[in-house]
Amino acid sequence: MMQRILPRAFSGKASLHRCTPTASKSTLSQQLEENESPLPKMPPFDYTPPPYSGPSAEEILSKRLQFLSPAVFHFFKNPLSLVDGKMQYLFDEKGRRYLDAFGGIATVCCGHCHPHVVDAIVNQTKRLQHSTILYLNPAIAEFAEALAAKFPGDLKVVFFTNSGTEANELALLMARLYTGCHDVISIRNGYHGNAAGTMGATAQSSYKFNVVQTGVHHAQNPDQYRGVFGSDGLKYARDVDDIITYGTSGHVAAFIAEAIQGVGGIMELAPGYLPAVYSSIRKAGGLCIADEVQSGFARTGSHFWGFEAHGVVPDIVTMAKGIGNGIPLGAVVTTPEIAKVLAYRSYFNTFGGNPVSTAAGLAVLQVLEKENLQQNALTVGSYLKDRLTSLKDKYEIIGDVRGRGLMLGVELVKDRQLKTPAKVETLHVMDQMKGAILVPESIIFHNTAVYLFIKSEYYTLFLFQNGNTDRKRGFFGNVFRITPPLCFTKDDAGLSLPFSVYAH
Ligand code: PMP
Repeated sequence: MMQRILPRAFSGKASLHRCTPTASKSTLSQQLEENESPLPKMPPFDYTPPPYSGPSAEEILSKRLQFLSPAVFHFFKNPLSLVDGKMQYLFDEKGRRYLDAFGGIATVCCGHCHPHVVDAIVNQTKRLQHSTILYLNPAIAEFAEALAAKFPGDLKVVFFTNSGTEANELALLMARLYTGCHDVISIRNGYHGNAAGTMGATAQSSYKFNVVQTGVHHAQNPDQYRGVFGSDGLKYARDVDDIITYGTSGHVAAFIAEAIQGVGGIMELAPGYLPAVYSSIRKAGGLCIADEVQSGFARTGSHFWGFEAHGVVPDIVTMAKGIGNGIPLGAVVTTPEIAKVLAYRSYFNTFGGNPVSTAAGLAVLQVLEKENLQQNALTVGSYLKDRLTSLKDKYEIIGDVRGRGLMLGVELVKDRQLKTPAKVETLHVMDQMKGAILVPESIIFHNTAVYLFIKSEYYTLFLFQNGNTDRKRGFFGNVFRITPPLCFTKDDAGLSLPFSVYAH
């Protein structure tokens, strides 16, 4: 029989605006004793971080509040101060170990401070830290060659940037220059960045400021969970045809999409959608841009790039996050013909292709290959997804389990038919997990969950900021996103089930 989770602990009266201090240890212990399932232990790990003698979390917080923009926010009323990292683990100022199931937003792919990547960064920094592309240096050339080798067809020319936003800005610019058109089509619920052009392409109100954003049309999201056509990608694709027909001159510059929407809550585009849309866009003279900022670099396990699972070959691919394992780095990869458009004027980026960043990027590719991390993402991700799916079969609050590899999402709903977002319940789980942050490793299970619910809180913060707790669209603060470093093990995955402790 289906069960609701949190049968004892949840009163149903939690307020969305509540930001309670961490639950007391005794409350947690009591709840844990009531649960019959044995608490899993953190897998052993042979590493002790050096002693930390820097400022306390309180001091750091006070400086942040005083000197950093109010836009810089943090999780938890008592924020977590992370001072060390090693592979899939993080350590706080007291040396407590946390399993990282979030990967710094799908960014740490090889593992925190992977020795090969660190060596590449340190060695390059000692020799030459910065020169600009105005001079020759081996790091940029070697990495560009290795990166180009990861792409099919004619996708062989690389331009390096410092972030995903920059990469997408550049891709949109190139498409507009190449086609001579301005109109771009992106998908609702997608995220592509927060600069002038990319904020237009981003289609989530939380991230859109009320400033001029021209020339972008947002197509219906081929959302297999909430979308009106379920998993029928071809039906959603018709909206793109309609936009071209009714909303443009009949010619467009580009279509940009993530294969799996990351910020949007791990939404994998319905099958059949991308091939149909790519064909329509090309008929309208446009270029197809794949935003691989989150789904690239082996994260999806089945493929190295997210678009490959859809059987399409884009004209431009953008990437960041995993490309540098945490080093600020992004890239645009395209064909030699499209790449030419940038040479008609001066296009320059001071740090783009920096020797240290590109040395790190090359090291990342080497680690992914040497340690077979794509296969690991597939094996461990499938195992974790199966376990989450079996929880869904048991507990009706889990509305959806989705994604592939180590890019997974779990959506909580109050009612499976209506798919009502279980915001309050999610917040309750979050509060419970928040309460667990400060307890010792013996109940580290909860610490694991900290990283699972961070994403959810992230959503929630935006709801708070907008003062809109009753939105009908977009994301609802009820999706747990699981995007750990790709060295995550099955033992780690066994710990990453935030619901089971409460459910049993
Ligand atoms: N595209 C996608 C799919 C992203 O998830 C993000 C960042 N969340 C970006 C672009 C922008 O990347 P950055 O934050 O590095 O500018």
